[in-house]
Amino acid sequence: MKSQDIRSKFLTFFEDKKHLIVPSAPMVTKDDPTLMFINSGMAPFKEYFLGNAKPKSSRITDSQKCLRVSGKHNDLEEVGYDTYHHTLFEMLGNWSFGDYFKKEAIDWAWELLTKVFKINKDILYVTVFEGDESEGIPMDQEAYDFWKAIVPEDRILMGNKKDNFWEMGDQGPCGPCSEIHVDIRSDEEKAQVPGKDLVNQDHPQVVEIWNLVFMQYNRKANGSLENLPNKHIDTGMGFERLCMVLQGVQSNYDTDVFTPLICEIETITNSNYGKEDEVDVAIRVVSDHVRAVAFSIADGQLPSNAGAGYVIRRILRRAIRYGFTFLNQKEPFIFKLVETLSAQMGKAFPELKSQKTLIENVIKEEEQSFLRTLDQGLLLLDRVMEDTKTDTIAGTKAFELYDTYGFPLDLTQLIAREKGYTIDVEGFDAEMKKQKERSRQASASETSDWVVLKEDDVEEFVGYDRLKVDVRITRYRKVTTKKDGEMYQLVFNMTPFYPEGGGQIGDKGHLESANGDVVYILDTKKENNVIIHFTKNLPKHLTDTFKAVVNEESRHLTACNHTATHLLHQALRNVLGAHVEQKGSLVKAKGLRFDFSHFSKVDKDQLQQIEDFVNARIRENIPLEEKRNIPMQEAIDAGAIALFGEKYGDSVRAIKFGNSIELCGGTHVKETGKIWYFKITSEGAVASGIRRIEAITNEEVGDYFISIDNDYQALKDLLKNPKNPVDAVKSMQDENATLKKEIEGLLKDKAKNLKGDLKNELAEVNGLQFLAKQVDLDSASIKDICFELGSQFDNLFLLFGSNQNGKAILTCYISKKVVAERELNAGQIVRELGKYIQGGGGGQPFFATAGGKNTDGIKDALNAVKAYVE
Ligand code: ATP
Ligand code: MG
Repeated sequence: MKSQDIRSKFLTFFEDKKHLIVPSAPMVTKDDPTLMFINSGMAPFKEYFLGNAKPKSSRITDSQKCLRVSGKHNDLEEVGYDTYHHTLFEMLGNWSFGDYFKKEAIDWAWELLTKVFKINKDILYVTVFEGDESEGIPMDQEAYDFWKAIVPEDRILMGNKKDNFWEMGDQGPCGPCSEIHVDIRSDEEKAQVPGKDLVNQDHPQVVEIWNLVFMQYNRKANGSLENLPNKHIDTGMGFERLCMVLQGVQSNYDTDVFTPLICEIETITNSNYGKEDEVDVAIRVVSDHVRAVAFSIADGQLPSNAGAGYVIRRILRRAIRYGFTFLNQKEPFIFKLVETLSAQMGKAFPELKSQKTLIENVIKEEEQSFLRTLDQGLLLLDRVMEDTKTDTIAGTKAFELYDTYGFPLDLTQLIAREKGYTIDVEGFDAEMKKQKERSRQASASETSDWVVLKEDDVEEFVGYDRLKVDVRITRYRKVTTKKDGEMYQLVFNMTPFYPEGGGQIGDKGHLESANGDVVYILDTKKENNVIIHFTKNLPKHLTDTFKAVVNEESRHLTACNHTATHLLHQALRNVLGAHVEQKGSLVKAKGLRFDFSHFSKVDKDQLQQIEDFVNARIRENIPLEEKRNIPMQEAIDAGAIALFGEKYGDSVRAIKFGNSIELCGGTHVKETGKIWYFKITSEGAVASGIRRIEAITNEEVGDYFISIDNDYQALKDLLKNPKNPVDAVKSMQDENATLKKEIEGLLKDKAKNLKGDLKNELAEVNGLQFLAKQVDLDSASIKDICFELGSQFDNLFLLFGSNQNGKAILTCYISKKVVAERELNAGQIVRELGKYIQGGGGGQPFFATAGGKNTDGIKDALNAVKAYVE
């Protein structure tokens, strides 16, 4: 069965059981501080499990893109070495939110695997949580009994807390789970060791395919468990592993999910899969990583130097490194695989098709720049080896290479080994541990349980219409971090504060109680669909009613910039073309930043057109037409622009200013005239194929023009108030150029005269025509004199010292004949003389120069040479 059919069979099976099919959420998380990437099927549904939002259906099924490369689930270092862990993989899942529980989950999983997919029952094992005495959690007898009704008892195994108890994080919903494992070994192998002894033992052909999680507890901050009022089902099946079983192969990489990519790698790199271990690992690494990186770029997450972007960069670099070392790829090649990937997966994931060129460009540029770094690192490593007295390279050095050049230990080891060196691995590990400890301390934080003051359903956001409302605090908690110290997070029953999102910063403002107490709200963020207000102090009487007041000025300026961002987006598509796609946005009170896909610099004329376009829309004073809660399709049909990598609900908010229509949750001005004026302040590249425009609006533009005008006045004053300052500067530049030329001519003349004089000053010493003298000329003239005299004598020895704008320069010339016969070396001589002028230098045996900061030493150097030659 083809992988595509396997995916759709899974989904329709659960659709028949009244589940709603939903698309995969984007891989990069937006409002979950505990998670950078979606790492399991349940992550996008956390808000439902936490009770912060209500799902559209109590039964859902999907295939979720997951990435396990950081944090609690990190399989990165395994990938390539085994045949069943990936960085990016699809997790097939079925979900019950307070609906069905263990019986149905177990029965349906079994029905799907054995009846629909017709997997032989004799290769399946299931596990049940054995309980944990130290925590007082009982064995999962319920699950055991449901399994016993359909599976022979000798195929039901007991599992410990590590394998059979699932936790979302340090806090929150959790519960026991049952895993389903397959044994796809040959009959001979099975006869030797029974499969049940290999379950959960990291055997490549006895692997877990499906995990059924029964969420029935909540873990509190102090570590204790309480029963959840509503019990949920969360299941996750590895799609690629299921394909391996159903396609009768022994490795995920032998399924049709991977074979087209592997085939292409073999062609491009002229290698063969399945012949040599190291090559195989490299091919698996590259085929896996290109998927992770391509999907992530399509989701809007580009490689970068921090956060999620850095994780993506590291994945790509890992692939480049394996290609470099084991597939002998010294030039970019991974970007060439995007074609195959998008042809193969583009149907299920259209973003891979529509953004193919961008993905290729970004990967190619990353490859180029990392290959350059590798070259630099190799040079550095050479130097380290030269300086190493023994045959062991210090761990600190290897760590330095790792830390500053991204040179991983195994690569350093490999190169060192080729040259007969080993690495002090213990020393390296010690450095690594130190660094980890440092970053752990820097990011350590402590979060208390929520203190609930008032049970409330879901907090309502009223900030589109009102900036001041009476609110009550429904819950709060304390968070302590190294960076911010102690902060309190407050949740209200309703709020006018806009939480950071869609590029727009969170609102600031204050809470005021009836008796005049004020606490300041420093920031507002959304976390798993809850709006959280940050404050340094708790109000005195927590259960009072408060007036919640948003900082109006900052909100207004931010709204100006947000509306201007939409107009800018429209202008870009108008002036540059419809290929322009938003790739990032930051909207603050002070200005805006907009990243978009475009392949060349936006030139001056285009920038002017863009600015004019936006300002024309501002002057038209177009009113805001806002539509809240309209069906997604209706908005798209009306021409709204939706972004890849955004998680949209079924109903959306559409923001329309004339012909600009966007899906957007941000705050906007009521009419474009409020923006006053739009001014672009910079344009540049952020990555290959991604440009960034920064701009300002409203008051900032006024300040900007005032400051430019001040500079202009200062300039005019300096130029003695000319009619046209630009012409004045131009004529000054012309004058400067003429003067420069004149000086050059004068110097040449001076040199010509000098040459004659110097020739007369040559003295015969020890069979040499010798002269050591200070002549304050520029280096080019001195060189000229040396070579000119050199053409007239074949036994010349010259040393010139010169003071060039406060720098001491020594120039030594020795006829080639003398160099050969007397073993004199100009390079060595100037190097030694360098000490007199506090500097150094070098060059060829017949001509060399040294530079230094001590001009007083020139005389000493000349005297030293005189003494030496004599
Ligand atoms: P394993 O022990 O094999 O790493 P897990 O216990 O980490 O698996 P879960 O967190 O329970 O796995 O995830 C549910 C399912 O997702 C697994 O049963 C497996 O089929 C699949 N899966 C987990 N990690 C990966 C991965 N890195 N690559 C591919 N599939 C995976
Ligand atoms: Mg795992």
